[in-house]
Amino acid sequence: MKVRVRFAPSPTGYLHIGGARTALFNWLFARHHGGKFILRIEDTDAARNTEEAVRVILDGLHWLGLDWDEGPLTPEATGPCRGDYGPYFQSQRRELYMDRVQDLLRAGHAYEKDGAIKFKMSREPVIIEDLVVGEIKRQLTDREELDPDFVIVRSDGQPVFHLVNVVDDIDMQITHVIRGEDHISNTSKHLALFRAFGVTPPKYAHIPLILNQDGSKMSKRDKGASLTTYQAEGFAPEAVVNYLCLLGWSPKDNREIMSREELIERFDLPQVLRHNARFDYQKLVWMNGEYITRMAPDRYYELAVHALAHAGIDTNRYPLPYVKAALDTCKEKIDLFAELPAFAGFYFTEALSYEPEAAQKEFTPENRPRLARLREAFAQLDTFDAATLEATLKKLAAELGVKAGVLVHPTRLACTGRTAGPSLYHLLEVLGKERVLQRLDRALERMG
Ligand code: GLU
Repeated sequence: MKVRVRFAPSPTGYLHIGGARTALFNWLFARHHGGKFILRIEDTDAARNTEEAVRVILDGLHWLGLDWDEGPLTPEATGPCRGDYGPYFQSQRRELYMDRVQDLLRAGHAYEKDGAIKFKMSREPVIIEDLVVGEIKRQLTDREELDPDFVIVRSDGQPVFHLVNVVDDIDMQITHVIRGEDHISNTSKHLALFRAFGVTPPKYAHIPLILNQDGSKMSKRDKGASLTTYQAEGFAPEAVVNYLCLLGWSPKDNREIMSREELIERFDLPQVLRHNARFDYQKLVWMNGEYITRMAPDRYYELAVHALAHAGIDTNRYPLPYVKAALDTCKEKIDLFAELPAFAGFYFTEALSYEPEAAQKEFTPENRPRLARLREAFAQLDTFDAATLEATLKKLAAELGVKAGVLVHPTRLACTGRTAGPSLYHLLEVLGKERVLQRLDRALERMG
């Protein structure tokens, strides 16, 4: 059997981290088994859906690198799309649903009531063989007991979620439905519909929910709930993919950092955990830092330059080797690309401003002659590399009878405007002799 799975989001205006993880699990499952991954936008609730809401989903999937394999062949006609295929839009498949409703009516599985069409739900308990949760026996609730039948076409002619979800899963020959645990309660209805259509249902795998650290349900307002946050705050998508994977899935050996290829190779449903996952923003930040440290240089430059540009820092005005050398001094020091503008901005401006408190503390009359001596010592150097700069500064500190820090802090402030940043001697080397002397002169001027 060829695996065919789908991600079927309703466009609500944002891509919840749980939704992104559902998409990822489906995608990994398809890639692991050499199957197909389909994107289906469940937009029958026209009032809530906008093109913008769809775009958020497509952008999110694109950012995570989750490509889909099938879709309408005329993408222009289907709204915003990426790649060769548009996603399927349920809003464009009405006729198919209505044909299927006619089948149900003809076979006596559905009937009309008050202008709506209702499905005759089985009165028997339904057994769900879930690949993650195990066997679930679903009885009718007391309320359903009174009238277990449910609406499949509303009186305004709008087909309802349960119907379109099942009709599409049949039409798209879905073999495995991997979705959030919140849908378990719908599954008996879906199985009953499959039976009525005379079609063997797909296998179901309901994956555990993602909760906050304190075990509460994640709401839209919780930090990290929306994928857009990660796009905006300078996370690397590969780190987010890796982290999302570990929310509800665990390879046997407790490995944490895994490449996309490795994830594809190892991902399968038996290792999906049954208990709810807790979302840990700090851990994701840490993981992002690990990814940055290990990132291939070109990928790192690409994401770094992008983050700087996003903050209005144009690195194109500087020679490429300078930009690369500057970024190299930050690689192991940042966890998020969003830290870069503050961390490395000093490399790319000739109009440095000083942190006011630090300026007050470091640019003192006492420090002035020390910094002037250091400027002279640096001016004498023919080789302006980190090792020489360090030796020069330390030698002068010894001569002056002060600790190295007494020279380090005002020098850093003079050359970067800040008290924290890349390793001092390395950043001085990258700035180069001319810039360093200029910056020291400017600080000395200010010190009066
Ligand atoms: N549109 C449903 C949702 O967004 C999808 C349900 C399913 O995957 O079957 O929750």
